[in-house]
Amino acid sequence: MKFKKLLALSLSAVMAATLLCGCGSSNSTDTAEDATAAEATVSTVNDGVLTMATNAYFPPYEYYEGSDIVGIDAEIAQAIADKLGLELKIEDMEFDSIITAVQTGKADMGLAGMTVTEERLQTINFSDTYATGIQSVIVKEDSDIQTLDDLQGKKIGVQLSTTGDIYATDDYGADNVEQYNKGADAILALTQGKIDAVIIDNQPALSFVDSNEGLRILDTEYVQEEYAACISKDNEALLDAVNGALAELKADGTIQSILDKYIVAE
Ligand code: GLN
Repeated sequence: MKFKKLLALSLSAVMAATLLCGCGSSNSTDTAEDATAAEATVSTVNDGVLTMATNAYFPPYEYYEGSDIVGIDAEIAQAIADKLGLELKIEDMEFDSIITAVQTGKADMGLAGMTVTEERLQTINFSDTYATGIQSVIVKEDSDIQTLDDLQGKKIGVQLSTTGDIYATDDYGADNVEQYNKGADAILALTQGKIDAVIIDNQPALSFVDSNEGLRILDTEYVQEEYAACISKDNEALLDAVNGALAELKADGTIQSILDKYIVAE
């Protein structure tokens, strides 16, 4: 069951809405009228709650600290929820299930270091982007793989349905790609010598190489990407509200300070 929630958007969104509907008056002293014009109807899966779908094995974007899911996406989602006057609830699931969960109304948005791609845009909306990712290649320290060309004919581990999976399959062929449910499972297979390389986003790559002996990241940057929140195509009001919140959180430096907290400059 869906509930409607009246939401007073903050000032920049108020001004945008006022401009769009042409009902603002620049010297108006009637703030009550302006506020009414700016109220947007946002429905969420559960009344008063913003439900975020993620896969919490993607440090530093999302990972467990005890029983809590923390990280960049958890903090950005919390900041968005605060702006919208909603309580944040995080649902952990396989990465491959996130878009379906959002499409079918099990979650309001997916925040999972998720890359905006043309293919995903066919089925789901994306918010404005809030971070950049780069696909990296991890190999064993003593591996003879030095360049992307050296990956031809090698066994490459990826996380199922990620962009790493899609690019690796395109560039090196499905027969050479091993799909794992979690990035950590691919890393384990690499350390056990079952595969020759793992293609995964750069920040998790750094984190995995830090916490596992004997691994290194190739110097080449494979593919550059942009991360955003995915939101159902049926919930345009939520998309607008999230974009409004993100714009404010970018403008006041909140997003940058969350990124700086988790990502150490190289
Ligand atoms: N950025 C990659 C993608 O969107 C991986 C995301 C993830 O594994 N959480 O496919």
